[in-house]
Amino acid sequence: MESNKNYQVLLYYNYVHIEDPEGYAAEHLQFCKDLDLKGRILVAHEGINGTVSGTVEQTTEYMEAMHNDPRFADMVFKIDEHEGHAFKKMHVRPRKELVTLRLEDDINPLQTTGQHLSPKEFYDAMQDEDTVVIDARNDYEYDLGHFRGAIRPEIETFRELPDWIRNNKDQIKGKKVLTYCTGGIRCEKFSGWLLEEGFENVGQLHGGIVSYGKDPEVQGELWDGQCYVFDERISVPINRKEHVVVGVDYFDGQPCERYVNCANPECNKQILSSEENEHKYMRGCTHECRVSPRNMYVKEHGLTQGEVQERLEAIGESLKQEA
Ligand SMILES: [Zn+2]
Repeated sequence: MESNKNYQVLLYYNYVHIEDPEGYAAEHLQFCKDLDLKGRILVAHEGINGTVSGTVEQTTEYMEAMHNDPRFADMVFKIDEHEGHAFKKMHVRPRKELVTLRLEDDINPLQTTGQHLSPKEFYDAMQDEDTVVIDARNDYEYDLGHFRGAIRPEIETFRELPDWIRNNKDQIKGKKVLTYCTGGIRCEKFSGWLLEEGFENVGQLHGGIVSYGKDPEVQGELWDGQCYVFDERISVPINRKEHVVVGVDYFDGQPCERYVNCANPECNKQILSSEENEHKYMRGCTHECRVSPRNMYVKEHGLTQGEVQERLEAIGESLKQEA
């Protein structure tokens, strides 16, 4: 196959004081638009977190400009080649915080954060018996792929993580704790919080899963499945030595790595589903979502009421059935 990858997707963050997040966001949006970049950037008093796509030229110019700003002089960019934009629009939004742990007192990772471990150090530490590895991401991210043996906190969003840890201390107490997330930004705070919570031996994967997959030495080893990313690609491969599928189809439990959003826009839940099951279930995660008058699948495929009824009957449901 001929490769046509003259675009790049950048992922980056930097915890650094930004005086006027609103003003900076407005100015930065214009700058990104002038460069024809697309993506999503958050700006807060505590720093910047972004992911953007553009041609190699555009993204290179962007990185140079950022590195020329003393606040971002040593910001690390994770770079993925791609065949086009990975976003539809360009947003730069001011926020109160870059990541939210819903804490009484927020953590300043410039003051308190876990030990940064290189991919190789993380790889070695993971295999130590007295280590627990905690996935610091959301449940749907874990379900598509994770480090082998990592703990999956039963949480839907990152901000629920502190409560989960407090309720599950027994699993973790007295052990070395390793945390990881996509690009590293969530762990900067989460690992700091773990230290303040009294855990003494806390390490975080420096540069996140994305850097781990690019590391020439570990080559993503011990990662199972794919890594969920917040752009149109949805997932990227990490383990370059072997590929173990851990995702399972929402409908039939078969191995699956294909995420779709529930066709009911009021639900929009992310579910792993084969193409076949997407059609069979009209991309609805429940009966209620399948028969919703706003079901996008039904609209996209121009299904008549009769055809909807047929599909429902095939899975033992009916239009008249109580939701
Ligand atoms: Zn749904």
